[in-house]
Amino acid sequence: MANYDFDLFVIGAGSGGVRAARMSAGLGAHVAIAEDRYLGGTCVNVGCVPKKLFVYASHFTEDFENAKGFGWNIGSTDFDWSKLIKNKNAEIKRLNGVYKKILDNSGAETIHGRATVVDEHTVEINGKQITAERILIATGGWPSVPDIPGKEHIISSNEAFFLDSLPEKIIIVGGGYIAVEFAGIFHGLGVDTTLLYRGPLFLRGFDQDIREALANEMIKKGINIKFESNISEIEKIENKFIATLEDGDQIEAGQIMYATGRKPMTENLGLEKAGIELDKNNAIKVNDEYQTNVPSIYAIGDVTNRVNLTPVALAEGMVLAKRFYGNEDKDVDYSNIPTCVFSQPNIGTVGLTEEEARKKYDDIDIYKSSFKPMKLSLSDSDEKTFMKLIVDKKSDLVVGVHMLGPDAGEIIQGIGIAIKAGATKKVFDSTIGIHPTAAEEFVTMRDPVSN
Ligand code: FAD
Ligand code: NDP
Repeated sequence: MANYDFDLFVIGAGSGGVRAARMSAGLGAHVAIAEDRYLGGTCVNVGCVPKKLFVYASHFTEDFENAKGFGWNIGSTDFDWSKLIKNKNAEIKRLNGVYKKILDNSGAETIHGRATVVDEHTVEINGKQITAERILIATGGWPSVPDIPGKEHIISSNEAFFLDSLPEKIIIVGGGYIAVEFAGIFHGLGVDTTLLYRGPLFLRGFDQDIREALANEMIKKGINIKFESNISEIEKIENKFIATLEDGDQIEAGQIMYATGRKPMTENLGLEKAGIELDKNNAIKVNDEYQTNVPSIYAIGDVTNRVNLTPVALAEGMVLAKRFYGNEDKDVDYSNIPTCVFSQPNIGTVGLTEEEARKKYDDIDIYKSSFKPMKLSLSDSDEKTFMKLIVDKKSDLVVGVHMLGPDAGEIIQGIGIAIKAGATKKVFDSTIGIHPTAAEEFVTMRDPVSN
């Protein structure tokens, strides 16, 4: 057998790479992991974690307002952006340290630097060639921005996490997770926020009722949403940016943020030379075992552009390590992946949308409920919580659960287990609610809406 420097060389210490490296090392493999930017990857540094901290920060504006109805006299409030950034950076530095420790404790060797693939068993990093029996590419993704005149003036989510100051006005372009989450963040922090989306309704792929309900709530809160709208050109005039829209209108803003998707990080990685096949979006093509067309080279996570979520990258890393070194042959189950859009209010969802369910099943029942949550009952807020269950009539299986409302992510995580276990509507009905909660509505919806 050939003699390699390592059993496994992982490129990229993000969600997927770290999990694969530390699990493999824990199972006795000799592992190295390369990272050129930040330990923990996108999620920890410029993704899930700082985003969620920003969501919390921005929601206090409403919390202060809503507290008044509960008897609180809120004095004058004052928000300090630089303090939020400083504290957020400190928390992330702490998490970077936690990741370093986890890797060190597992026995994996962390190498700082940019790694490229040389051939099927060789990578190059910091001018040195290193060999490994297997190479795992877990390099993630990067913001993708359309080529428009003035593109150099925009920011992406990467920069939004480090702005020196908050602009008075911001334009956000896009209609996916990042666009709606950041629209809520900036608006909550007092920035006059305009969201531009090129289609008729944002969050394509989510349940139509939920998309409409979120749009209504965001508009009620005061976010300017323009559907069927896009920027054709951006100009900088002194400290302001002028966005010319495709219909000729112009909007001025202190920042313009693009959240128009992410592309897999496959450029200048040596993939062409190593003969690794990419798909039309430049994502690494893998089979069901995460193996590329070069048998000793594997890829997981966002670089394969399948389900671009941290828990999915983690699950892939775990399964791969167990396959390589744990003698286990399990697959990641990609069905019924619960997900949350940390918009304000949150969207939590698991299973099929109504549109998907109608295609898949002959006959479905839909249960819907819209109400003012008790938490807001003494406040002036007229934010509505919306819940929806989709049931296959024949089998009684609950095939889709959707929620718009506070803590929808927390609630749907639990419901996700029930869906995974194959819960029927009868099981939902026989579950005793927890009173008084918003979540109990999921077990008390009795009458389907007429189709
Ligand atoms: P990454 O985490 O991107 O890690 C890849 C790593 O590889 C990076 O650290 C990179 O620096 C390194 N790298 C790249 N090339 C090289 C090289 N040549 N040599 C050495 N190192 C290299 N997901 C959720 O589930 N929930 C959320 O709330 C959520 N919020 C998000 C918010 C934002 C703003 C963004 C951008 C993403 C969010 N995501 C969220 C998605 C989530 O962050 C990704 O799905 C996840 O990080 C993918 O993990 P990964 O291991 O594939 O890649
Ligand atoms: P998404 O792919 O979710 O959304 C991209 C949006 O940009 C879509 O609305 C798309 O429109 C629009 N768009 C694409 N190209 C253009 C263009 N040329 N001009 C105008 N609009 C355009 O990407 P995000 O950047 O929001 O997020 C990337 C991924 O990261 C997410 O898909 C998700 O997997 C992950 N993520 C997860 C989060 C979570 O779990 N809470 C939070 C943030 C990110 P259209 O629909 O018409 O194609």
